[in-house]
Amino acid sequence: VTGALASELADVVGPAHVLTARDVVAGYEVDWTGRWHGRASLVVRPGTAEEVAAVLRACAARPIPVVAQGGNTGLVGGAVPFDAVVLSTTRLSELQPVDEGSAQMTVGAGVTLSALQQHAEGAGLAFAVDLAARDTATVGGMVATNAGGLHVLRHGPMRAQVAGLEAVLPDGRVISRLAGLLKDNTGYDLSGLLVGSEGTLAIVTSARLRLVPPPAARVTALLGVSGTEEAVARTASVWRAGIGLEAAELFYDDGLALVCSMTGLAPPFGRRRPPAYLLLECAGPQDPTAALAELVADAADSAVAGDARGRAALWAYRERHTEAIGAIGVPHKLDVSVPPGVLPRFAAEARRLIEAAGARAVLFGHVADGNLHVNVVGPDPEDNTLDGAVLRAAVRHGGTISAEHGIGRAKTPWLELSRSPAELATMTAIKAAFDPAGLLNPGVLLPGPPAG
Ligand SMILES: Cc1cc2nc3c(=O)[nH]c(=O)nc-3n(C[C@H](O)[C@H](O)[C@H](O)COP(=O)(O)OP(=O)(O)OC[C@H]3O[C@@H](n4cnc5c(N)ncnc54)[C@H](O)[C@@H]3O)c2cc1C
Repeated sequence: VTGALASELADVVGPAHVLTARDVVAGYEVDWTGRWHGRASLVVRPGTAEEVAAVLRACAARPIPVVAQGGNTGLVGGAVPFDAVVLSTTRLSELQPVDEGSAQMTVGAGVTLSALQQHAEGAGLAFAVDLAARDTATVGGMVATNAGGLHVLRHGPMRAQVAGLEAVLPDGRVISRLAGLLKDNTGYDLSGLLVGSEGTLAIVTSARLRLVPPPAARVTALLGVSGTEEAVARTASVWRAGIGLEAAELFYDDGLALVCSMTGLAPPFGRRRPPAYLLLECAGPQDPTAALAELVADAADSAVAGDARGRAALWAYRERHTEAIGAIGVPHKLDVSVPPGVLPRFAAEARRLIEAAGARAVLFGHVADGNLHVNVVGPDPEDNTLDGAVLRAAVRHGGTISAEHGIGRAKTPWLELSRSPAELATMTAIKAAFDPAGLLNPGVLLPGPPAG
């Protein structure tokens, strides 16, 4: 089957874009964390929506499942193929000119976040979503996971930036909502439905995205704090001051020590080692530096930077957590959110649960969103015991099992903790309406046939 399919797909996309050599395909079979290993029949790299449609028609005729893969930076195993074709979107990389009248732009699903950011900046505008995987994560992956990132508290997640999508249904039909109309009440919002659908309903080929005015000034402060409670309280008071709070990131002394030892960075406050750290960033048309400095003046330890280099140096302590954690083992990444007021209690309980089981916990997160990334290092990749315990604790504290990474393969066993039977039945019916043969990403998001 693979040989016949490969040659049919080669006629569609060109032989250079159908990959079958085992050593090349292997790179598409494992996720960023190394926790999920699958198997692909082949990798196909279409360059247009029409080619995507022809690829999907060929796969539907077999039938053989298809897994969309963008930058493969997803953290829940959602882009890993299990006896499926990998449809790599990286050649869908068209950047259309910025439409300055609407402050929107249409871009291909394979465009990386940093390419998108630079393109917007070239037109004197900015893209509101930012995250540390910016050089590799793609627009299609960010749409499909409804990526959150660093600026949700100010601008909302990916969903809030999407003015419309073009996508190909599993049978090869194309739906296109790229006019960018702010008002269009003509029934079900199909683009909205695809946001967060994790490649299970359709393959996104282009996105019409909203842009925002770039702030004239930006300032970052790193504070040493006594713990989660102080971080939550300080974040709320800076937000209330109305000085354009754009990011509020929390991490802890053990995570900082790990980052410093893995990267060679010097600790920010020399020998002084506060229990936790809060990174705040404000941006706006007026320079927020003096106001932010005044608000944090009573912190025992603080550093404030307004220039790009100084800000990047402060951000590195937070942004290099993910790679530092990856260097000590294969992490179980449990991205949860709870109401911010409950965050101190939840963070303490999650740490207790993990450490009591003899595993290592590294916590960090987006504090204003109540979003904690709970990283568990120690248990085997297949051992889900602590995953379940932490996710159940998040739900007990009024939260959700996934804040921004999605369900993927990692969290399907616990989806019912966050979704009622009526919601699950409705989601299953939506899946059947888009993909009646179950060909797109089976086993991801909704429980499907067993993997492997
Ligand atoms: C260092 C690091 C930091 C990160 N920080 C954040 C963060 O702050 N916030 C956050 O939300 N996430 C974060 N992530 C997770 C990840 O970057 C995002 O989930 C991102 O949106 C994934 O994009 P991708 O192109 O790599 O998608 P992939 O990993 O390739 O795919 C992710 C999912 O989307 C589907 N998909 C991909 N492309 C398409 C398409 N065109 N059509 C339909 N489905 C598609 C896949 O099938 C899969 O289910 C981080 C990851 C890393 C490694």
